[in-house]
Amino acid sequence: MIYPPDGGRFLAARAAIVARQNQAILAEKLSWPGGALEACRELEDEFPGWHVAWLNENTITGFERPAGYCATLDGLHSVRLLAATPQELAELMRAVPPHDYSVNGCDWCLDRAEERLRRAGL
Ligand SMILES: [Zn+2]
Repeated sequence: MIYPPDGGRFLAARAAIVARQNQAILAEKLSWPGGALEACRELEDEFPGWHVAWLNENTITGFERPAGYCATLDGLHSVRLLAATPQELAELMRAVPPHDYSVNGCDWCLDRAEERLRRAGL
């Protein structure tokens, strides 16, 4: 017998609802601009598996970045993308290929790992 009996669909649906509720709370508490919450949800609907949020400007020294949209994808293909508009973010998200689970490894992930090593001077 598989447990839970529905294969986890109820828990997954509940988690999705809670995530959307939390997203709305964040939007309100962090004063997202008008339309940002809807834009983030549209992108999440268009790109399953991604989490999209609007980020305020970060003025902390060493971590500066302008306000804008942020998309994160967890898992083996861990990635974080930043853009000024939902349209620009969607273009960046479309450019991320699906993870390659073959024995040869994922070229996209390997390229990113090499780039991180290069930037770190290793
Ligand atoms: Zn990958």
